[in-house]
Formats: sequence, C-alpha cells, structure tokens
Amino acid sequence: MRTARTIAGVRELLDASRGATTTVGLVATMGALHEGHLSLIEAARADCDIVVLSLFVNPTQFAPDEDLSSYPRDEERDAKLAEDWGVEVLFAPTVEEMYPPGFATSVVVGGDLSARLEGAHRGVQHFAAVATVVTKLLNIVAPDVAYFGQKDAQQALVVKRLVSDLAIPTRIVVCPTVREADGLARSSRNAYLTPAERARAVALSRTLERTAAMIANGERDGVAAAAAARSELAERGVDPEYFDIVDPERLTPVSEIDAPVLVAVAARVGRARLIDNVIATPGSAGAS
Ligand code: AMP
Repeated sequence: MRTARTIAGVRELLDASRGATTTVGLVATMGALHEGHLSLIEAARADCDIVVLSLFVNPTQFAPDEDLSSYPRDEERDAKLAEDWGVEVLFAPTVEEMYPPGFATSVVVGGDLSARLEGAHRGVQHFAAVATVVTKLLNIVAPDVAYFGQKDAQQALVVKRLVSDLAIPTRIVVCPTVREADGLARSSRNAYLTPAERARAVALSRTLERTAAMIANGERDGVAAAAAARSELAERGVDPEYFDIVDPERLTPVSEIDAPVLVAVAARVGRARLIDNVIATPGSAGAS
C-alpha cells in the first residue's frame, strides 16, 4: 500500500496505474476503521482494480458543540488495517491540504435531502460540509465507483443527488449496514460507550427491528408506529433526538404506509450520538 498526503501526490500515484481498463474504487472514511468500513473495501475490491481509502476527519461537518476534538484518531492502526484489507492507496491529507487559505466554495444539496432528519438536528450546514468534501474527494481521486454505507442513509442520498446533479462520472454504490452480533450498528463512535451504555445502545436497533416487524405485519399508520417506537425507546432508557418514518428517497414524513419506508433514529447514549435506520416494507397481514 502506498500513502499520499497531498492532492498532487495521490493523483500522481493513480495516474501511473490508471488506464483504459483499470477501474478505481473509492471508500471515503473518517478513520477509526471497523467492520463497516471493511465491508465497503471488500465491495470495492470485488469490483475495482485499485482501491483508494481516504482518511480525513472533516472538521467543517462538525458543529461547534460536537465531538471533533475527541473523535477517535489512530492513523497508524488504520494504515495497518487498510493494508491488511487490501487497500492499494491510502489518501490521508491534512486539513490545510483540503482547505488551503482562501478556500471559499461550498456544495449545497438543497431541499429536504439536507434539511430533514440529521439536517434538522445537526443543522443544514452539516450536509453542505459533507457534500463539499465528498465532491472534492471525488475530484481528487476521480474514481469509477465510490462506496457508501446505508448506515448513513441520508448522506448516501445527498451524495447520489450531487453526483447526478453535477454530472460527476462516478457510480455510487450503497452497501448494507454491518452490525454487531446483538444488532448494534458498527460505528467509530461506539468506542465512546461504557459497558452499561453499550448494553443500552442496543435499544436503537431493537426498536427499529420491532417497528419494521409491525409494518411488515400490517401497521399502516406511520405516526402511531413512530409513537410506539418512541415509548419503547423510553422504556429502554433511550431518549431519541428523532425517530422518524420517511419516504426512502425524498425523506418526507409518511403517515399512511403503503410502500417501503425508511425508519431512522438518532439518540445520544452517554457521550455517543448514534444513528441507525432500516428500510421497512409493508406486508399484507392485518391490512384492511
Ligand atoms: P465514517 O468513517 O463513519 O464517516 O464512515 C465512512 C463510510 O463507512 C460511510 O460511507 C459510512 O456510511 C460507512 N459506514 C460506517 N459504518 C458502517 C456500517 N456499520 N455498515 C456499513 N457502512 C458503514
């Protein structure tokens, strides 16, 4: 594996091997690598000749009261894992490399995709920052395919929108959420959880599963299903920032469930702000 820290350096590494028949896959991460990231790398390895992993904790997407300074960072460990997992090129730029003095451009995906769910709670500037850094990474690496996780469902929709709107010649692949044995979605932020909080955190995936089962069994009322889920979370000692049932492409709330919906939750458990989601498909049982 070769590592580049500059934009010119990573372009040089890739241009040397890029050819008409060589495909490049990008997995963009903030590091603290785990099995979720591994699944994206494996998907990229299956499709592409060269896998690029970017490792960049993007400061602009953190609000002032968020965990930028404490976000888990261990580049040595990440570089070792990336190499073991078959990554060819690690792109680990500095903040100055990505945001040199005078940087003044922002990519904004307008409307509900940026404003709902995470946008409503972290602020719309969160997805402007994500859209800007992803656009820049796509321009730097120029991958044929870029891999994102369904774990960050809204981020994946924002990225698909900007790639389509700006005619960026990269295919976006969204990979399923990788979970711990008990269902907790893998996340770099799980490292913040104490053992007691870790036990409580399973409430998120349990409640999502239970809601998906209710919908599969005939529940059609999105408002009632979300209310039942919120009280289940409360019983399990978790107070969600949101628990919403929304259209899986547009993120608008769904009150009458007659097609697959995205069920999404965000909650603070101790110091960790966790997010998770499932796609729920209505079944016929119980439908009138
Ligand atoms: P992050 O380092 O948290 O910014 O995540 C980098 C990429 O990995 C994003 O596309 C995430 O959606 C994806 N990812 C994070 N956790 C998981 C997971 N548990 N399963 C699948 N993909 C994930």
